[in-house]
Amino acid sequence: MKYVIIGSGIAACGAVEGIRSTDLCGDITIIDGEKRGAYTRPLISYFLSDPDRYRDIDYRSLEFFGEQQVEIIPSRAKQIDRSDQIISLDNGQQIEYDRLLIATGSCPLSPPIPGAEQDWVSTFYTIEDAELIVGQAAQIREVVVIGSGLIGMKAAEALHKRGMYVHMVEKEAHILPRQLTPRTAEFLNEHLSSSGWDIITGEEVTVIHPQHKVELKSGRMLSADLVILAVGTRPAVELARQSELDVRTGIVVDAYFQTSDPKIYAAGDVAETLNLASQQLEVMALLPHAHREGYLAGCNMAGQSKPDPGSILMNSVRLLGWNICSAGAADYRGGELLTWQYQEQLLELKIRDNRLIGYIAINVPEAAGPLTNSVSRKMAISAASWKEFLADGPQLLNIPPVYWQELRRAEAYGSN
Ligand SMILES: Cc1cc2nc3c(=O)[nH]c(=O)nc-3n(C[C@H](O)[C@H](O)[C@H](O)COP(=O)(O)OP(=O)(O)OC[C@H]3O[C@@H](n4cnc5c(N)ncnc54)[C@H](O)[C@@H]3O)c2cc1C
Repeated sequence: MKYVIIGSGIAACGAVEGIRSTDLCGDITIIDGEKRGAYTRPLISYFLSDPDRYRDIDYRSLEFFGEQQVEIIPSRAKQIDRSDQIISLDNGQQIEYDRLLIATGSCPLSPPIPGAEQDWVSTFYTIEDAELIVGQAAQIREVVVIGSGLIGMKAAEALHKRGMYVHMVEKEAHILPRQLTPRTAEFLNEHLSSSGWDIITGEEVTVIHPQHKVELKSGRMLSADLVILAVGTRPAVELARQSELDVRTGIVVDAYFQTSDPKIYAAGDVAETLNLASQQLEVMALLPHAHREGYLAGCNMAGQSKPDPGSILMNSVRLLGWNICSAGAADYRGGELLTWQYQEQLLELKIRDNRLIGYIAINVPEAAGPLTNSVSRKMAISAASWKEFLADGPQLLNIPPVYWQELRRAEAYGSN
């Protein structure tokens, strides 16, 4: 059996493990478009802040691929010929496959801002982006980060740690608009602003002038030696589209990660999978999901039958010493929002129909496990029980007793 994986990121590593859990002899080839092996993408901001300490951010080493007998070809796939089961590469090679996994991840969005093509304007998505910034760092004093999502935040934090002055421009009304509510965003905003960041919300960058000036819609001008574009990402679906596989926002797959062509699978950021909170098929661009999906896809490519149980959106990030965890639904319309705050700690619970559908915890890491479990397993725990949990402070000691009953039930019979 000839297995080919396009992309050498997180899902690809999971897939190698999945294939080898069943098939120890089949040929596995990875097409490595970045030509950098498998590295841990979230760590590029750590590398940017301290390149000596974070020089090695391999997700899997070359030894791993050697042991798993994987051939890695440093080139980009440019076309999939589905009828002959052949992939054409940029380097002129043609590779045959029996089973193909598309694990091409995401691409950063490039906003159509005049001046965005200048060499002091960069996205922040690859290790190459981070290396280019590290190379110029000695000349950089002031930075404008466009976008306050997780990638913009991590880039800004790294640059702040290097002593640069950070302006962050967010067009929505508050920072981390896809993770936080207005109140939690304001709470975090105060922390970042008091650490010296200039955070500008409800504003848009209109022009990046060659004189190292960034113009906002309001007319305000910011100085910048470097501009980071961090306005979002989209699944890298070009190959799938060209080869006429079913694609919506991401590649459409079934519960076994099989695309509309039974010989071709897709996993990771590029695929739409089941969000247990919304019960919708969505792109959930997160590292743990990419590895798990890649693993299951690999098992299925090798002949097993392992369906995806689905997952929820969840994130845990540290920003300037603060820990921000969130999971589940962003929207709690028709439900109830319970809030607890004490000094630098803030917790919001989103409850609907006697279930916790989502939460945001700032500096309350001890609650994250049970809360995430309650959301992903859709436990029946009433708002009254959660109110009691918050009344004496959200500690493990105060977890509603019904949580443990629900956990045992979910483990015995599965989730609701
Ligand atoms: C700065 C930053 C911080 C992040 N922080 C977090 C975090 O805290 N928590 C979290 O869960 N997630 C985080 N993420 C997201 C996480 O990195 C992704 O969800 C994960 O890497 C997705 O894995 P993947 O295998 O689907 O794609 P990737 O790991 O991106 O790998 C896809 C690879 O395919 C390659 N490729 C694309 N097209 C082709 C082609 N035609 N031919 C060959 N190769 C191709 C790409 O170049 C890329 O190397 C972060 C991302 C960034 C950028």
